[in-house]
Amino acid sequence: MTSRYTGIIETYRSRLPLAPEARAISLGEGRTPLIRLENLPRAEGVDADIYVKFEGANPTGSFKDRGMTVAVTQAVHAGSRAIICASTGNTSAAAAAYAARAGIKAFVLIPEGKIAMGKLAQAVVHGATVVQIRGNFDDGMRLVKEVARTAPVAIVNSINPYRLQGQKTAAFEIVEALGRAPDFHCLPVGNAGNITAHWIGYSESAGTGTAACAFCGGACAQLPPAPVAGRPRMVGYQASGAAPFLRGGPVKEPETVATAIRIGDPQSWEQAWTVQRESGGWFDELGDEEILAMQARLAAAEGVFCEPASATSLAGAVRDLKRGRIPAGSTVVCTLTGNGLKDPDAVLRGGLRDLIQVDAERAAVERALLARL
Ligand SMILES: *Cc1c(COP(=O)(O)O)cnc(C)c1O
Repeated sequence: MTSRYTGIIETYRSRLPLAPEARAISLGEGRTPLIRLENLPRAEGVDADIYVKFEGANPTGSFKDRGMTVAVTQAVHAGSRAIICASTGNTSAAAAAYAARAGIKAFVLIPEGKIAMGKLAQAVVHGATVVQIRGNFDDGMRLVKEVARTAPVAIVNSINPYRLQGQKTAAFEIVEALGRAPDFHCLPVGNAGNITAHWIGYSESAGTGTAACAFCGGACAQLPPAPVAGRPRMVGYQASGAAPFLRGGPVKEPETVATAIRIGDPQSWEQAWTVQRESGGWFDELGDEEILAMQARLAAAEGVFCEPASATSLAGAVRDLKRGRIPAGSTVVCTLTGNGLKDPDAVLRGGLRDLIQVDAERAAVERALLARL
């Protein structure tokens, strides 16, 4: 018996809608750390068991890998030779990598200027054809749908239901790690695919259906896994400048430093409202300053470096704990969707403020250290 971990398809094959003979296109995604926060809750004065699911530890540095392995596996199985997506960055990085692995072509449409440099580098290095459009993500998504109507390319955005099937495995891992579902699960929300996927995963774990699932439409209860008790309340946080779920409809010119969730017209709009209703959760919004402050605090207090969009979940959870909307003593899981290394500009924006420069002499270095001990 060997113990080499080979990704979510091999691990959860019986719970994924793939043909038995479909060859898994995998980079060993999944099995990401579920880190219990030790310092930050005390510093913030909140009493709760807060865990962060660090999806930045996936092969391309975001949760998109969970969805992409299943979507690309299915696309290749169905005979596709090319995939296409619109992306704020992480979807294109994952699409490019999994297409390279599969030996097929990837076309990615990205918005002009508003993409983190690390993500763009990933799309380029993995050999995707990168098309920068003079418009935002929502424009790109509309164009992808139009092009795919006639061109022989498979869409791998989260409107592809195989993406959500892959992403639901994060909920399986959490239930396995905790022995039950948490009381609350908090996520950043852009297109709302991931919050929908987690709800599908928790529902299948609990042996209950969810109307949000494109495959079963609420019949998950008939699926095989051993049911565990309970499902969490699902809480979705948006950036104030890109918060259609708070405004009640599409936002025309979404704007936020959290570029991964700079989306004005969410593709899983109906599903996410279903998740909110079924789970008894809610949506809320945070300002860019609150988001960046939490990104920095988490990195300094716990040694976990996530990208700005990811910090939205934790910033929202801590605020809701302080307000009592999430009760003290709750078990809370926050998804940290992507790796901070993708977007170093976000933390170095103010320059290298804490950089100390001294002469290359022992005395000067010692002086600098002793003043700060
Ligand atoms: C894609 C992404 C999101 C948003 O997920 P949705 O499924 O679109 O709601 C959040 N954070 C990061 C880092 C992402 O890459």
